[in-house]
Amino acid sequence: MAEARRLRGGKWRLYMTPNLAPIRDPETGEIATFDSLDDARRWWADVEPSEPPLDESIKCAWCGAYFGGASTWALYAGRYYHPSHTPQDTALRRRPG
Ligand SMILES: [Zn+2]
Repeated sequence: MAEARRLRGGKWRLYMTPNLAPIRDPETGEIATFDSLDDARRWWADVEPSEPPLDESIKCAWCGAYFGGASTWALYAGRYYHPSHTPQDTALRRRPG
């Protein structure tokens, strides 16, 4: 299975799970990079038609960072968070005094 991640510059790359190795274009040998998630999805469906459709990696709903292979996360109200970024914890930390 593969998942897509958005780079800081706005481009998208695909990574094999679970080791998160970047996926290369089999024709050029270069790491495949895309302008949009839709482009990446089309390419993936074309190159690996037997694989499940591509999705974006899960990321923290509070800070937006993707989770690494060894990360732990908390599921809160249907969204993923770093354990220290769950809304309850954030509220506690922001309480004045
Ligand atoms: Zn976070």
